[in-house]
Amino acid sequence: MDVEMCRRCGRPVHWSGRGRRARWCSQAWRRAAYEERRAAASGAIAVRVVQRETAREPSPAECVARVLASPRACREVLNGLTTLAATGQLDTGAHTATLTALGRLVHTLTADDTW
Ligand SMILES: [Zn+2]
Repeated sequence: MDVEMCRRCGRPVHWSGRGRRARWCSQAWRRAAYEERRAAASGAIAVRVVQRETAREPSPAECVARVLASPRACREVLNGLTTLAATGQLDTGAHTATLTALGRLVHTLTADDTW
């Protein structure tokens, strides 16, 4: 009868010399090793869940709120509108409501005596 060490805990594993040589000192270790091999084969051990932040496109309302909170962004929007007007791009039907809103802004500014 020869003795080898358990691959799991290092305790001696006795082998009678007949049949397959035991690698573990106990049935529990043998089962644990089997479960680990099985999990590794199915990828369960290698699987790591990584939660990623998905970048969400801000809504138009959120963009407007951010622009209104920044004098510089407001100025750049007005400059952009001026460029569109200068190049005839505000004359399209798509900008009818834009021009109406622009007229309201101009009217409000000119009607206000504090300006
Ligand atoms: Zn053992």
